[in-house]
Amino acid sequence: MTSDNGATRRRQLLRAVNEQIRELSDGWDVGRFHCECADPDCSEMIPLTTQAFDAAASVAGGFLVAPEHAIRSGARVVLSQESFAVVAAAPAGVDGSW
Ligand SMILES: [Zn+2]
Repeated sequence: MTSDNGATRRRQLLRAVNEQIRELSDGWDVGRFHCECADPDCSEMIPLTTQAFDAAASVAGGFLVAPEHAIRSGARVVLSQESFAVVAAAPAGVDGSW
């Protein structure tokens, strides 16, 4: 397995976990969601309203990341808010750059 696949798998896993958190947070004002950046050492939690998470999750092919991680990754930012950003997954083959 290449590291690219590892990053993709990790993000898919984190998204699944975040969707669980979203479900459990229903009715709360703010939940804490995992940063879905490609850094295997990242353990950042992003405090978001469930509405903000829904907005981030509705971006097809996008990943929810902390704003500073979006800059660090160099990935294309699709959605930028004060508390979070959504970056596009890099096209297959160039994912190794981040
Ligand atoms: Zn991160």
